[in-house]
Amino acid sequence: MRKQRTIKQPIKASGIGLHTGKRVEIELNPAEENSGIVFYREDKGQTIEVKQENVVDTTLATTLGKNGIFIKTVEHLLATLFGLHIDNLFIRLWGDEVPIMDGSAAPWVYLIKTAGIIEQKAYKKEIIIKKPITIKEKGKFVALIPSKDFEIHYSIHFENAFIGKQKRGLVVNERSFIKEISKARTFGLLKDIEFLQSQNLALGGSLDNAIVVDEYGIVNEDPLRYEDEFVRHKILDAIGDLSILGYDIKGKYLAFKSGHDLNNKLIRKLIADKEAYEVVGNPYRERVVGSLVWATNEGL
Ligand SMILES: [Zn+2]
Repeated sequence: MRKQRTIKQPIKASGIGLHTGKRVEIELNPAEENSGIVFYREDKGQTIEVKQENVVDTTLATTLGKNGIFIKTVEHLLATLFGLHIDNLFIRLWGDEVPIMDGSAAPWVYLIKTAGIIEQKAYKKEIIIKKPITIKEKGKFVALIPSKDFEIHYSIHFENAFIGKQKRGLVVNERSFIKEISKARTFGLLKDIEFLQSQNLALGGSLDNAIVVDEYGIVNEDPLRYEDEFVRHKILDAIGDLSILGYDIKGKYLAFKSGHDLNNKLIRKLIADKEAYEVVGNPYRERVVGSLVWATNEGL
């Protein structure tokens, strides 16, 4: 079990929202231990904590919301915070969507590493998966099963011949996240993007922040960052979605053609089944309580 962490100094950034197409400013601020990841919509005066109850939409991206105020496309930033073990952060946002940056987590990793990370006193709680939780739906499958590490095994199967079948598995830690996952960009099929934009969605999507694929290959001039960048990006999304649990995870996540919607259903099914998990807190708590009892006995 590890100590909680936050950033050393505030980070300011701005960029385009993938779905709204609007420019938005964001500021990441250090926060006290046990405060968790909290968003604040500066333009609306609304706090939105990162937790399952505040997930309000999972079509195309993961959206948090509270009292009718929303923040869209939180998953790449949340995945980065989980990957870098940033547990406490107060995120001020002047708009309704987290900037998409280059479509990957790499710009967030760079900004956080540049600002610096500090360890705090409190321990990070862990959720231990005790029995398998699975969801099957329309040929898609997702599961969490017991494991001593946090592992992800992901398979995708696209009709598009260029993406095709890809699968990858890894133990998620800071090093593997940065090296293997963080640079993988969002992707979409050209025909889907044209349709979405005709529906006023993915308005900020461009070759600067997404890999666009047609039936012949990628439309972007720059090459893929990993040979199997598509499945790696799906892993990045899954890390962001699972991080909403608010704990370090001891369990293996398996997915076949999953997405934000199924990931969210999996978390809800897990939380609803008290026998499926155990949350473990500070390993030294009993010793602290013991010394307090001793102090009381001494009449202090
Ligand atoms: Zn994504």
